Amino acid sequence: MPVVRFEAADSPEETAIGEGLTRVARAAGRLRVDTSVGKYAVAHADGCGVCGAAVETGDSFYLDSDADEVLCDAHGRERREEAD
Ligand SMILES: [Zn+2]
Repeated sequence: MPVVRFEAADSPEETAIGEGLTRVARAAGRLRVDTSVGKYAVAHADGCGVCGAAVETGDSFYLDSDADEVLCDAHGRERREEAD
């Protein structure tokens, strides 16, 4: 499963995603439906799974659906390089 990058968080809790990403979000146990930010969203209120940094509105972040973790920009990039 991929490590997916998100350009900008919609809120500290959730970010809207397209239908094409619902499978990945569901696999990570992070899919939310009919949220305040959109029909489908990925939940990330717990922040980065490595350093605990919060994902703030407008931050880019990553989702690792194998580890079921959200990752901050730095750790997401690192995880992606490990996966290659
Ligand atoms: Zn981090």
